[in-house]
Amino acid sequence: MRLEENVALARLTTIGTGGPARALAQPRTLAELEEALHRAAETGLGVATVGLGSNLLAADEGVDRLVLRLGGELAEAHVEGELLVAGGGATNAVCLHRARAAGLGGFEFACAIPGTAGGGVWMNAGAYGSDWSTILERALVVTTDGMGWLTPGELGLGYRHSGLRHGQVVARVEYRLQPRPPGEIRAEVAQLVALRKATQPTNRRTFGSVFKNPDGEVGAGRLLELCGLKGHRIGGAMISPVHANFIENAGGATTADCLALMTAARRRAYEAYGVELEHEVVFLGGIELPPL
Ligand SMILES: Cc1cc2nc3c(=O)[nH]c(=O)nc-3n(C[C@H](O)[C@H](O)[C@H](O)COP(=O)(O)OP(=O)(O)OC[C@H]3O[C@@H](n4cnc5c(N)ncnc54)[C@H](O)[C@@H]3O)c2cc1C
Repeated sequence: MRLEENVALARLTTIGTGGPARALAQPRTLAELEEALHRAAETGLGVATVGLGSNLLAADEGVDRLVLRLGGELAEAHVEGELLVAGGGATNAVCLHRARAAGLGGFEFACAIPGTAGGGVWMNAGAYGSDWSTILERALVVTTDGMGWLTPGELGLGYRHSGLRHGQVVARVEYRLQPRPPGEIRAEVAQLVALRKATQPTNRRTFGSVFKNPDGEVGAGRLLELCGLKGHRIGGAMISPVHANFIENAGGATTADCLALMTAARRRAYEAYGVELEHEVVFLGGIELPPL
C-alpha cells in the first residue's frame, strides 16, 4: 500500500483548512489497515483516522501523524436481514441509500449528517432525537494490538462523545434497523433535508456544529445569536449569518482564523451569560483554545 507524504489536510476537511499530514494511507481491506497500523508502529508515528473531515479542525502547521482514510471494501455497505453492515469509511449517504433500497428504516435522522460510519461512532453523531447509540449494534475496532467488536456501552457513547482514541480505527459497523416502506423513508428524508436547508448553512464550507449544546434550554446557536455574533468575521472565517453555531470559510480561512473566532465567541458567551461552551469540533494537531 502506497503512503503519500505531506498531504494537505485542507483537502480532507469540509472547512478546507489545515496544513500537511506527515503521511496519508488509504487502506482498502482489513489486511491493508493492519499493515498501515504496523508500519506506523514500526516508525513510531502516531495514527489518526479521517472520515469525510466534516467535524475536524486541523492545525495550520500540519499534523505529525500517519493519517488513515478508509476506502475500498472498508467504505462499502450492504444489508444482512435487518442489519446494515458498513465499512468504517462508508458515507452516511451510501448507508441511507442501501437501507432505503432494502426497505429498512431508522437511519433517516442521519440524512443531513455528511460523515462516515467511523466518524459517526467517534462523535456519536446525532440529530432529531436520535444518535449513533440508538442504531449501533456493534463496531469492529482495529488497533496495532488486534481487533475486536465493541458494543455502544463498551465504546462509551454519550452526547457527541465516545471513549475512542486515535490509533483505534472503526473498520466496520453493524446498524440494527427496522422494516419500513421506502416511500415513507423518502418522504421523511425530504422533510428533514428541507428543514436543514431552512435553518443551517448547507451550501457553505463548514465543519458542522462548533460547540456542544450547554445544559439548559438555550442551545449554543441561539446563545451565540443572542451575543450578536451572527456574521462576525476574523480573517476568512465567519460566524454563519444563518446559524450562529456554524463557522463558514468565507474565503481563504485558516485554522488560526477559526480558532480566533471560537475564542472570541466563547469569551462573549461566558461574559454575557456565564456559560462555558465546550467545542464539539475535533482538533487534530497541536491546537487548543485558551482558557476563559
Ligand atoms: C453541514 C454539516 C452538518 C452537520 N450536521 C451534523 C448533525 O446534525 N449532527 C452531528 O452529530 N454532526 C453533524 N455534523 C458534523 C459531522 O458531520 C459528524 O460529526 C460526522 O459524524 C463526522 O464524521 P466524519 O466521517 O466526517 O468524521 P471526521 O470529521 O473525519 O472525524 C471526526 C472524528 O472521528 C474520527 N474518525 C473518523 N473516522 C474514523 C474511523 N473510521 N475510526 C476511528 N475514528 C474515526 C476522527 O479521527 C475524528 O476524531 C455536520 C457537519 C456539517 C459539515
